[in-house]
Amino acid sequence: MSDTGAPAWRGRSTSPEQTRAIGRAIGAAAAAGDLVALSGELGAGKTQLVRGIAEGAGVEPAAVASPTFVLVHEYEGLPGKPVVVHIDAYRLHGTGDLETIGWTAPGGGELREGAIVVVEWADRIGANIGRDALTVILTHAGEESRDVVIQCVPSWASRWDELRRLFDLAISTGAGAKPKLQSRPCPICKEPVAADAPAFPFCSKRCRTIDLGKWATGDYRISRPIEEADLDEE
Ligand SMILES: [Zn+2]
Repeated sequence: MSDTGAPAWRGRSTSPEQTRAIGRAIGAAAAAGDLVALSGELGAGKTQLVRGIAEGAGVEPAAVASPTFVLVHEYEGLPGKPVVVHIDAYRLHGTGDLETIGWTAPGGGELREGAIVVVEWADRIGANIGRDALTVILTHAGEESRDVVIQCVPSWASRWDELRRLFDLAISTGAGAKPKLQSRPCPICKEPVAADAPAFPFCSKRCRTIDLGKWATGDYRISRPIEEADLDEE
């Protein structure tokens, strides 16, 4: 987990909801082939972060469980979106175990084809994590507070400025004496969205349905027609 001057974002989450919102920003910006390395002590909020990433990538929140007995969870996202592969490295021992789950090369190899891969307890696999993972480190900083460090790598660089803005926003609400909620425009419909909104950074599930493959570059397109069923869910 050594770092050589890569750009980093540092902030303090004061609630599980804020940690989850940070995850949603990552998930919304993630594309097939991306790797996220997550480290932090027990109870530091890794599960919240993984849930947020999955939600941001379009997976229904109810589908995301804590992988207590399973090393690899694969979650289906919305049509046209990559699957989210969640690996719990806590019980992996050595490269033999990595090969067993399909981790065939440093950085994950073919596991990443068509998938957003999130490795929890990434520090346990050492150099096998490779060199191009977005790295998230959570540290206890009090009862509910967590220090969050997120290190960028070149493969995320084009999305980094926008991600930093979303991280700032994610931790800017809900703390202490309820400051006035900040908001940002929904990337799709431009309606203001508070950072603690359930679909942050989107205003709604309907807007999240719209394909985010080009989200980071602002080149939006619709992956399938909006159907009446989408609208009914509001
Ligand atoms: Zn919207």
